[in-house]
Amino acid sequence: MEEHSGPKDTRGTAGALDLYKALAESGTWESLEALRRENRELESLVNDVSGLLGLSGIPEMMEFVISRFLDRFIPVFLAFLIEPPRGGRVRQYCYRSLHPADEEVPIRYYRALKRLFLEDSRSRTFEEARQALGDSAFDRDFLSYEPELILPMRGIGGLYGIILLGRKIAGAEYTLPERMYVDRLSRFLSVAIQNGLHHESSITDPKTGLFNHDYFMRRAEDELARSARHGSRAGMILADVDHFKRFNDRYGHLAGDEVLQVLSRVMKAATRSEDTVARFGGEEFSVLIVECDEAHLAEVAERIRAAVEGMRVPYKGVVLSVTVSLGARLLDARERRGARDLLDDADRALYASKAAGRNRVTIYRPGLLGRASMRRLPGGAAGGSAAAPAGP
Ligand code: GH3
Ligand code: MG
Ligand code: MG
Repeated sequence: MEEHSGPKDTRGTAGALDLYKALAESGTWESLEALRRENRELESLVNDVSGLLGLSGIPEMMEFVISRFLDRFIPVFLAFLIEPPRGGRVRQYCYRSLHPADEEVPIRYYRALKRLFLEDSRSRTFEEARQALGDSAFDRDFLSYEPELILPMRGIGGLYGIILLGRKIAGAEYTLPERMYVDRLSRFLSVAIQNGLHHESSITDPKTGLFNHDYFMRRAEDELARSARHGSRAGMILADVDHFKRFNDRYGHLAGDEVLQVLSRVMKAATRSEDTVARFGGEEFSVLIVECDEAHLAEVAERIRAAVEGMRVPYKGVVLSVTVSLGARLLDARERRGARDLLDDADRALYASKAAGRNRVTIYRPGLLGRASMRRLPGGAAGGSAAAPAGP
C-alpha cells in the first residue's frame, strides 16, 4: 500500500483552510447555507402540498394543516372563515392551541378584513391591518384572539375567506421563514378548500344539505359494482311525502320547506352514517342502505316511516306534521339489472304504498309475480296488519 507523506497532507489541509476562509470572507458560505435552508423549506412545503391535495374533505384538510403547524409552532388562536360558494352564512373553523374551539369570530371583522384584502391581496400582520383600517375597527373582543397574522384565501372566483393566526404560544414573534411557510401553504390550502367546497356543492341539495339525485345514483351504481365483486347486498328506499300539495295549500310553501328540512334531519338520524340519504327531488327522498338483507331493509324503511310520523315541527304558532309513503328494493348484482331499473322497482313499490292508503312501507320483490309479490309492512294511521298486494 502506498504511504502518503506528511508534507503533502499539510499542504492539502492548508489549501482547504484557505478556500474556506476565502468562501467565508466573500459571504458565499453563508448564502450557500441560506440556500440549503430555503431548499429544505421548499422540500417540506412540496411534501405538505402533495399531502394536502390528496385529501377530499374540508375537515381532513383543516386537520392536516393543523398537524403541519404543530410541527413548527402553536398559535393561541387559529380561525378559518370561509364563504360557501352558494352564499349563506360564513363557515368558521376555530381552534385554541390547535384544538377545535366552539367559538365564532364576529362577522363584522370578516367584512372589514375582506375589504382590506379586496384592495390589496397580500397577507398582513395584525399591526398592518390595524394601521390600514384604524384602531376603531377592532374592539377588545377581537384583541382577545391576540391576532398576529391575517391571510387571504383566494380561489378561482377571487377572495372567499380569511385565515387568522393568533400569537405563538411560545411567545416569540413569527420568524420570516415561518411567515413565508404559512403564506405559501395557505395559498395551496385556499385552492384545495375551494375545490372541496365546489365538490361538496356539486353533490348536495342546497335546501336540505342532503346528497342530490346524481350523487345518489352514482353511489347506487358503485354499490351494484361492489355487489358484483363481493356478493354483498345493498338496498334502496324511496320516500314521498303524503298529500304535500294539500299541505302547501294549507300552510304555505315556507312551512313546507321547514318541514322538508326537519324531515331530512329525521331521515339521517334514522339511518347509519355509512348509508346515503338524498333528496331525490321535490318532496321525494331516497336512501341507499349498504350491507343489508331484506329484513334489515324493511326495518330501516319502517323506522323512517315511524320517525316521520312522530315528527312535530313548530312553525309560527302551529305544530306541523306529515307522513311519508315508502317503497324499497334490494340491490343484488346477480339479478343483472342497472341501478335505474332497480329504482323503477322501488318507485313501483312506493306507488303501491300510496295506492294502499299512504303512510306505509312496501318492499319490492323480483320474480314472475312482479308487483303481486310485493311485501307490505303494517302501516301507520291508515295501516293495520300486513295488507294485501297492490292493486293495478
Ligand atoms: P301524494 O301523497 O300522492 O304524493 O300527494 P302529493 O300532493 O304529495 O303529490 P304531488 O306530486 O301532486 O305534489 C307534490 C307537491 O310537493 C307539490 C309541490 O308543491 C310540493 N313540493 C315539491 N318540492 C317542494 C319544496 O321544495 N318545497 C315545498 N314547500 N313544497 C314542495
Ligand atoms: Mg312526489
Ligand atoms: Mg307526495
